[in-house]
Amino acid sequence: MEKVIIPRSEHSVSRSQLSPNGVKVLYKLREHGFIAYLVGGGVRDLLLGREPKDFDVVTDATPGQLKKTFRNCRLIGRRFRLAHLHFHDEIIEVATFRSAADATPEEPPEEAVEPVPEAEALEQERDGRRRGHLHGPRMLKSEDGMVLRDNVFGTPEEDAVRRDFTVNALFYNIADFSIIDHVGGMEDLKNGLIRTIGDPQVRFTEDPVRMIRAVRFASMLGFNIEQRTEAAMVELSGTINKATPPRMFEEILKLLLMGAGERTYQMLRHYGLFEPLFPHFDAWLGRESEGFPHVRVGKALEWVDDLRGEGLPVSAPLLLALMFGEYLEEKIAVLRETGLPPQQAADGAVAAFAGEMASTVAIPNRALLAVREILTLQQRFQKTPGRNGRGVIGRASFPDALQYLRFMEQLTPPKRSLVDWWQRYAEQQGEPQPVEAAETVAAEDHKKKKRRRRRRKKPAQAPAE
Ligand code: ATP
Ligand code: MG
Repeated sequence: MEKVIIPRSEHSVSRSQLSPNGVKVLYKLREHGFIAYLVGGGVRDLLLGREPKDFDVVTDATPGQLKKTFRNCRLIGRRFRLAHLHFHDEIIEVATFRSAADATPEEPPEEAVEPVPEAEALEQERDGRRRGHLHGPRMLKSEDGMVLRDNVFGTPEEDAVRRDFTVNALFYNIADFSIIDHVGGMEDLKNGLIRTIGDPQVRFTEDPVRMIRAVRFASMLGFNIEQRTEAAMVELSGTINKATPPRMFEEILKLLLMGAGERTYQMLRHYGLFEPLFPHFDAWLGRESEGFPHVRVGKALEWVDDLRGEGLPVSAPLLLALMFGEYLEEKIAVLRETGLPPQQAADGAVAAFAGEMASTVAIPNRALLAVREILTLQQRFQKTPGRNGRGVIGRASFPDALQYLRFMEQLTPPKRSLVDWWQRYAEQQGEPQPVEAAETVAAEDHKKKKRRRRRRKKPAQAPAE
């Protein structure tokens, strides 16, 4: 593809829209004689008039040179080596131009499919062995074409074409404020199209997570997926599970928490991506419940979208509890019927669920424990607290559990709202008032510690009712 340069007068990106730290980094690299481009979602979103989430920079400076140039630099990454420049309230990610995984002349020998350990790779760089002189393979593919390691420094053009979609591969050049387009991204941006760079079959085989990303960008930007890209997704959707389960969990979270989770859910189903990711849940969704389809998951995701639309954070456990709530409640009920007490039934249900998911979307243990707590608190909410009330409101997941109950109450409004009751009770107890939305697991953990300490200082109080 021809390289196209769009001069400052013909595009809408201006320095004033960038974060001041981003501008500083770009200028400093340039002062030191390096190429410095803004790239990825930052450029895409500025061109669309959206507020970028973060600013990524690419340069011809190597990680080692970045470390020398910036005092606030930390090198990170196992799969990709990157520099993180730490500022007071922001991290700017700086990557060295990498060459396309499938365009490297150094195709590894068939037997060399083991990833090169990070330490060894760093060692090689320190030794000053550069492009073409490395002993170990730097780009590795498994036999079915998946990229296992991709750390080959390259030219700007090579860096552009190894990216996922054309709209994500535009460079904003700080040297003359132009946009550099190696892949036809400007055209696709104007036409609202998500298109892989190169052959979609090859690109989705290299990294199946790109299919999930295609759904994310289409849904987030309101774009269409270009025809050939779409056809490849339908054909390859069954291979989605070749991505590692922990990485898939991270992508799924991003996907469902960006504010268009319900639409995304429908798209995943449409492209045949949902079934291989959540086979047991999908089979359950396909079975009717007393003659009715299971509609709660769609409603739950809409509700999450509403919260996100109001700018409220939603924790991973709350998302999971809402999305899989009805499914888990059913599992719990089945175990209860075998005579298990509530807590053990919840344990068993969550453990079974985790087992079902482990090979596709690995949910971290902490999140699973919080999901269980959100569900078990629902039963305790149903009773007046007695002496156990403080135990309920002191739980780390209390805010999330209350939020879950709020969702359930708006599905079937009760005569007397338990949410209001518990909220008032928590206030009377002098606990920090549960925040409107759930918080991150980390924040909850922190709060849990604080609450424990506080509880010890105060003598137990009489229950409110
Ligand atoms: P967001 O606004 O959600 O951050 P983004 O486009 O910045 O969207 P990131 O996940 O932050 O997405 O990735 C930054 C850039 O890195 C992308 O724009 C793309 O150019 C490249 N990239 C990310 N993941 C992949 C991938 N799996 N394959 C190829 N390129 C990728
Ligand atoms: Mg980004």
